[in-house]
Parts: sequence; structure tokens; C-alpha cells
Amino acid sequence: MKKRVAFDLDETLGRPLIEGNKIIGFSERTGMRGILEKVGKKYEIVIWTVSKRSYLDKILKSGLDKYFQQTYSWDEISCNWKDIRKIKADYLIDDSPHHKQEASKFALESFYILVPSYGSIEDQNDPLLWVRLIHQVLL
Ligand SMILES: [Mg+2]
Repeated sequence: MKKRVAFDLDETLGRPLIEGNKIIGFSERTGMRGILEKVGKKYEIVIWTVSKRSYLDKILKSGLDKYFQQTYSWDEISCNWKDIRKIKADYLIDDSPHHKQEASKFALESFYILVPSYGSIEDQNDPLLWVRLIHQVLL
């Protein structure tokens, strides 16, 4: 059986393109499709966001849905930290250090891959750093 890898959505894979108060698409960060294709060959990949289902569905429709076997939003799992055991994932990739910090209380931190936030200074200086961090652990 393939191991499961969960990806956070916002600022991990990209960010929504908003016009007025409408979501009109998704701004993908550099290397997003490539890394999803590579990781997706070896693992089952899912999205886990703490945003609402209605928001997630809009983003998925912009062409992301084909990559993910399952998707989880706040509507299905409301939690203050992403415990990978809750969705039977083996890894979580997220730009927020919060989840990894909480996981360390259960000695699970090595299963959390922290990536720089899309658009952060670190990301602007090295837009493919996040891809290399994922590679190092998963590929
Ligand atoms: Mg995020």
C-alpha cells in the first residue's frame, strides 16, 4: 500500500487569485505541478486545509483536483492542529510551524515537512527551496 502525504493548501501550494470579493483562480507557486506529479507517483496525496469546504472546492476546480485522492477541509475536520493520525497520513507538508511544534509533543515531528510560505522573503530568495525540502524527505 502507498503511503499517504497530506499537503496544506494556502501558502504551501499557492494562493487564491481574488478579484473584488470573488475567487477567480489560483496562483500556483513555482514548481507546484512538477512536485505534485513526482510525489503523486510514489504516494497517495491528499489536501488538508483548515479553510472551508466551499473555498476549497473553488480552488480544486481551477485544475488541482486531478492530483488528489482525497481532500479535507474545516467542514470535515475542525482542529487546532493537524494531527496526521486523524487522516491516517504518513506525512504533512505545511508552511505553518504550528503543526510540527504540536506534533513534537508526541514525537511525530519528523513526519512534518515545514516549507517556507509562498511569497515570504525566504521563498522570494529561493523559489524552489520548498521543492528541495520535499525531495529530501520523500523522494
Ligand atoms: Mg498554509
